[in-house]
Amino acid sequence: MTAKVALATSNEGKRAELAPLFEELDVELVLPSASVMSEIEETGLTFLENALIKARAVSAITHLPAIADDSGLSVDALGGKPGVHSARYAGTPSNVNKNNEKLLHAMDHVLDGERNAAFQCVLVYLRRPDDPVPPIGVGAWEGEILREPRGSQGFGYDPLFFIPGLNRTAAELSTAEKNAISHRAKAASQLVAMLKDGG
Ligand code: IMP
Repeated sequence: MTAKVALATSNEGKRAELAPLFEELDVELVLPSASVMSEIEETGLTFLENALIKARAVSAITHLPAIADDSGLSVDALGGKPGVHSARYAGTPSNVNKNNEKLLHAMDHVLDGERNAAFQCVLVYLRRPDDPVPPIGVGAWEGEILREPRGSQGFGYDPLFFIPGLNRTAAELSTAEKNAISHRAKAASQLVAMLKDGG
């Protein structure tokens, strides 16, 4: 029988990207409702703490093992912001357009060539809420922040995140293309390797 694992995210964009990344594990991903996820307070100062908070809460509610990701955008010229506050950078409730406008505004003065940024992702797997040794995958994806959005795929800051080597933004990549190189893909491949190894 295929084991069930809860996937602790309510972000549709992330769900769509994460599901294929875990396809090679023989598990059925169970998606908690948006209302369950919205009640979890992400109070951590690091992506790792927030991922653990989400996985622990969802494992407790569902009585299943849980996978959670916490991710965000770190911009060099902004001292790493918006970082763990990426989802609600422009305030609550989370609003993608307002976040992107705030980022562009904050970077008005930042010269071309100094607009480096990285998406960061931490993925954790908790076998149960009090799992003392959860497997953890980590990934980063480097790029530059454009002065205006380009592309309509992906989610969040993707239209502003330019990958010089591809001459495209993350929003100009298909899910499969993004999933071959993204921060989330790197973190997932680490985690999947650990889980296949008996983690
Ligand atoms: P979380 O749900 O607290 O992990 O929030 C992550 C936030 O970081 C998202 O809401 C986006 O704003 C941003 N983010 C993380 N990964 C990506 C990505 O792959 N593309 C665009 N934005 C991302």
